[in-house]
Amino acid sequence: MCGIVAYLGQKNAQPILIEGLKRLEYRGYDSSGIALLGDAEVTITKSVGRISALEEKVGVDVSAATLGIGHTRWATHGAANTINAHPHVDYTGKITLVHNGIIENYATLKKWLESKSVEFASETDTEVVANLIGYFYSHGNSRNGTKVPASGNKFEWAVQEALNELVGSYGLAIICSDYPDTLIGAKKGSPLILGVGEKEFIIASDASAIVEHMTQAIYLSDNEMVIANRDGFKTKTIDNIAVSKSLKEIEFSLDAIELAGYEHYMQKEIAEQPEALATCMKGRIDLKSNRVVLGGLQNHLRKLASTKRIILTACGTAWHAGLVGEFLFEQLARIPAEVEYASEFRYRNPVINDGTIVIAISQSGETADTLAAIEQAKERGALVIGAVNVVGSTIARTTDAGVYLRAGPEIGVASTKAFTAQVAVLTMLAIELGRRRHLSNEYAGELLREMVQLPDKVGLILKQSDHIKEIAKANIDRDNWLFLGRGLNYPVALEGALKLKEISYIHAEGMPAAEMKHGPIALITDGMPAVFIATRCSQYEKIIGNIEQVRSRGGKTIVVATEGDENIKQYADYLITVPDTDEKLQPILNVIPLQILAYHAAVLRGHDVDKPRNLAKSVTVE
Ligand code: GLU
Repeated sequence: MCGIVAYLGQKNAQPILIEGLKRLEYRGYDSSGIALLGDAEVTITKSVGRISALEEKVGVDVSAATLGIGHTRWATHGAANTINAHPHVDYTGKITLVHNGIIENYATLKKWLESKSVEFASETDTEVVANLIGYFYSHGNSRNGTKVPASGNKFEWAVQEALNELVGSYGLAIICSDYPDTLIGAKKGSPLILGVGEKEFIIASDASAIVEHMTQAIYLSDNEMVIANRDGFKTKTIDNIAVSKSLKEIEFSLDAIELAGYEHYMQKEIAEQPEALATCMKGRIDLKSNRVVLGGLQNHLRKLASTKRIILTACGTAWHAGLVGEFLFEQLARIPAEVEYASEFRYRNPVINDGTIVIAISQSGETADTLAAIEQAKERGALVIGAVNVVGSTIARTTDAGVYLRAGPEIGVASTKAFTAQVAVLTMLAIELGRRRHLSNEYAGELLREMVQLPDKVGLILKQSDHIKEIAKANIDRDNWLFLGRGLNYPVALEGALKLKEISYIHAEGMPAAEMKHGPIALITDGMPAVFIATRCSQYEKIIGNIEQVRSRGGKTIVVATEGDENIKQYADYLITVPDTDEKLQPILNVIPLQILAYHAAVLRGHDVDKPRNLAKSVTVE
């Protein structure tokens, strides 16, 4: 849930670390720090808040050090202050490290270390790792009595011994002041990549911190460590078994992760949706045969089409996409489907029968809860399919097969283009499974022809940004909002409410419109904004009834309706129109104005849209 970057090479490490941290800031940003190792001395600078504060603190006096590690933190253990900020140094002052993840047995290890008179400075779980390595290093003895091999590298040995004691998750970058030419990385449950250049290396949580400097990388797997020195690197398991890893080309360009004239990444990513959707569908829809071709799934389609049950598992926005998927698998393919919060699913001892197929959805491909749910499902024999955006991510590599979203890098913490791409992928899959079951060739053709028009239609909605801004402005002082929809628009309502909550900090509830009368209607007060998604659909008349119920109690209605729907005008205090499409595809269009609404509300309230408080982009901790 945070960002790690480390550099070893010929250049000055400081600017590379600061730039890298800026690129990783979206992952977590309550505090940050860097450590530079030059002339056997480590210099550490830490700061609370944004990377810009750290940058100011380190100043422009660039250190000549060519080895260093950096961290942007999303606190799990201990408040966001400079003492708890990383890098952490061990009690001997020799070992310095940055950590992403949670050490679950830190209390036991801390007790053991304290019994050996080791003193701790911070409240973090991370410091235990530093002190454990430091203890083994200085004693040449591990907790279970293993001794450093006579010919071995003591630093590497101490790290390896310590890693074997850890329960939990980690991405680590570690340096030792006695080894000014060595950088060690290790991974379990948290992402870690080694960028490989000409006699230089960058260890980072994701490729965005690497791509500016090098184009090739290796992706570490769990329980692996990398030991880099100035001439090369080696990889091995934490059980000391050598592993050879192949170099992969880093797939995204720097342009894709720059703001490119936009004020915020979220704004840019909302605007990128026509292109992202087009890329997501490109080469996958065959309008001649009315079929969908999803390369990564070809070998599993027969099994998918004959399955008795699909479980979709995800968290947050991806869960909402999964809910759309649930409707579509049932309606188009007539396969029983259910969507599960990954965080609940993993602990529920789920019933997975022979033939159950699990679809895991995640933008980052690193979501810890989703990963754990995948492992559960695999252990029980389910075929697990991934719908993931980040190429080469852990989920992409852990699942049996998958479909990439191809939405391009998503940096804004509030997910937008990944959501529409997730829905597009699930829709294509549902159509193809339907085609293999009972969906008629004609209807599949109609849906697919409509699908390829979605990018243009999204483009038309984007043009209403100013109009939507006015609506946000008129209601900006309201602290409670409702988002209501029926059928496929219910997940859209949930997503609209989530967007508003996460970036503008306005309390919002999304729910099925008909549920309102069973309780939440009591919340409606004079002028309370209620957003209705009321595009033309089979439940159109019903939702009009729900709008009336809100209006008669003084609520202000913001209605998302189909272009040309004259009738709806009388029910809307504020009207937003979207182009018509098939009801099954409407979520992809209907969510766009809600993303725009949340964006403007957050800007109007003066919030940092891309870095909402308490949130981080990819939730790699439980
Ligand atoms: N658990 C560590 C801490 O609280 C690391 C958190 C992170 O991944 O940023 O400091």
